[in-house]
Amino acid sequence: MSVVVQKYGGTSVADAARIGNVARRIVATFEQGHSVCAVVSARGDTTDELLALAREITPDPPEREMDMLLSAGERISCALLAMAIHRLGYDAVSYTGSQAGIITDTTHTKARILDIHPDRIESAMREGKIVLVAGFQGVSTAKDVTTLGRGGSDTTAVALAHALGAMVCETYTDVDGVYTANPSLVSRARKLDHVSYDEMLEMAASGAQVLALRSVEYARKFDIPIHVRSSFTEAEGTWVNDGGHGMDIEQQLEQPIIRAISYTTDEAKVTLRGVPDKPGVAARVFNALAAARVNVDTIIQNTSESGHSDISCTVPAEDLPAAELALHDVVEQLGAREYVTDSSIAKISLIGAGMRSHPGVAATMFQTLADLGINLDMIGTSPIKISCVIAKEHVDEAVRTLHTAFDLDEKDVVHEASDRGVC
Ligand code: ADP
Ligand code: ASP
Ligand code: MG
Repeated sequence: MSVVVQKYGGTSVADAARIGNVARRIVATFEQGHSVCAVVSARGDTTDELLALAREITPDPPEREMDMLLSAGERISCALLAMAIHRLGYDAVSYTGSQAGIITDTTHTKARILDIHPDRIESAMREGKIVLVAGFQGVSTAKDVTTLGRGGSDTTAVALAHALGAMVCETYTDVDGVYTANPSLVSRARKLDHVSYDEMLEMAASGAQVLALRSVEYARKFDIPIHVRSSFTEAEGTWVNDGGHGMDIEQQLEQPIIRAISYTTDEAKVTLRGVPDKPGVAARVFNALAAARVNVDTIIQNTSESGHSDISCTVPAEDLPAAELALHDVVEQLGAREYVTDSSIAKISLIGAGMRSHPGVAATMFQTLADLGINLDMIGTSPIKISCVIAKEHVDEAVRTLHTAFDLDEKDVVHEASDRGVC
């Protein structure tokens, strides 16, 4: 019997009616003769509310206790969904991440999955039960509850799809696929039928929250296709899989140069000023940030003639306090002049495998932003991505204008929210 792994996001299980809707979808898949393992996120804004609750108690909650708290959101929706399936007359069992055999490292709030022991899931499936797993969580090698970082239910689902030998991981959300840009910002964004792992990785890393970055890393590593679809419609969604899947060479060559535009306003810029310009300095700075578990992205260094330089990088806004602590020590150790931070930035990224062989993409991007009078603070590139850091206040206008400039706009139809199944 084939195994189907499905993941339902927070909006899809936000209230009793939607939980009932998801229960019926799962039962319909089961009735088609599949063994079903469904991964569920916390309802609606539960995770944000739990975070806010913790901050009401203390500005600096211990991370172990944060994981105990946040993992509760997924347990609630998972148990409620099991009840809804029972009500339909089917046998279902809900498991926490730990009961599902998801073993992680000990990095609280951002744990990585190390291993999965799916025996309990498999034996429940053999007994004809529908299995529900609380997303976004596991148990560490030190036997503590851990969570996998924001959006982590996507990662749970892909990892379980791999462990259970499923052919695909179906990710049900509040949009009917991956779009050329966030459809809630760009009304003329187009749904993509297919996105390669590499493109989706760059999109997820640069702010397209429709799939969590680690879930795409996992999917690419183990070649697990992800089908991103709406939980409110039956429409075919977007397939995320290896680049050429289902396309002949001519179709691949006809792919547009730019596939999508992503953006994030959840990063901050840190700059170290007056750093001695000598070997080993950058290594000291970034070793200190790494030791503080801060993920750095776009990096630039300006070398001055006086033997000193400035080093800037972007970091996730949530990591800024840790970065500041680390840089405070680095300034003293290196005899640098100072460090400064800027949280009012946005990063916009153009993504497309086609840009590897097409000159002029950067020029068009920079010219389009220049025509809007927008200053470029930092520029970063990968073989299939160009990113610019700009002032946060310009991000909406910049994304929409670039979307048009790179010919990504939907030509005939302007989507209304209801067309995409957004509730
Ligand atoms: P879920 O709760 O189902 O995991 P998320 O809120 O995490 O859903 O992700 C879905 C949201 O991602 C959409 O509502 C949309 O606003 C946003 N999004 C950002 N960029 C894109 C994109 N390129 N394509 C589709 N959705 C996107
Ligand atoms: N509930 C978690 C979050 O809001 C995990 C998830 O939804 O995937 O980030
Ligand atoms: Mg999500």
